[in-house]
Amino acid sequence: MRLSNKVLIATQNRDKVDEFKALFTAYPEIEPVAASPILRNTDKLRFVEKHDTYLENALAKARLANQGCHYPVIADDSGLEVEGLDWRPGVRSQRFASPRPGVPQDQANNEQLLRELGNKPRQARFTCTLVLLIEGIMLHATGILEGTIAEAPRGMNGFGYDPLFIPRGSTKTLAEMTDGEKNSISHRGKALHELMAQIKTHGIVLAKP
Ligand code: IMP
Repeated sequence: MRLSNKVLIATQNRDKVDEFKALFTAYPEIEPVAASPILRNTDKLRFVEKHDTYLENALAKARLANQGCHYPVIADDSGLEVEGLDWRPGVRSQRFASPRPGVPQDQANNEQLLRELGNKPRQARFTCTLVLLIEGIMLHATGILEGTIAEAPRGMNGFGYDPLFIPRGSTKTLAEMTDGEKNSISHRGKALHELMAQIKTHGIVLAKP
């Protein structure tokens, strides 16, 4: 099956769009397209995230985006799971802390995480599930990045919990790494590479017309 080389990234999170664009450079035949200029209301994507699994949330976002565009659509749902918090916040990672006026949500989340964690076990992992909807076919893949939670935030790069997350085998947090370093090990990168392998297996070719 030969299809458009454009793939819509169904997220309103600009940091994720940037990461996807960098990750897709490994697949130059594909042109990733941000959702915001194409879908009229990308905010809606945030509100379909009410399910208990990454897969259900990613599928809900992909389906919503699919209604508004003619390209294949890729959607992501991801989160951080921490041992000392009984592997929370998971699918609730984005809305972990209650919003505080004037405080960026990522900062509030990181503060809340350290407060709740205290001296409990700091093993953690990021999980990302991707769903690709393509001509009525649904493919999905999950990537995991194992690590630990730092004692305090470090680094200015990335987004979300990156300043608190030290990947296994590293001394740096994700926020202290370059974009290239993070993308070469990230949960999102692993899921994307797995998805691209599945596309090949299914004989789907995303190519310029
Ligand atoms: P969602 O997938 O849009 O629900 O957002 C997941 C949330 O998990 C993000 O807002 C971040 O708080 C966190 N998260 C997911 N992936 C990453 C990452 O690569 N770095 C840091 N935080 C992440």
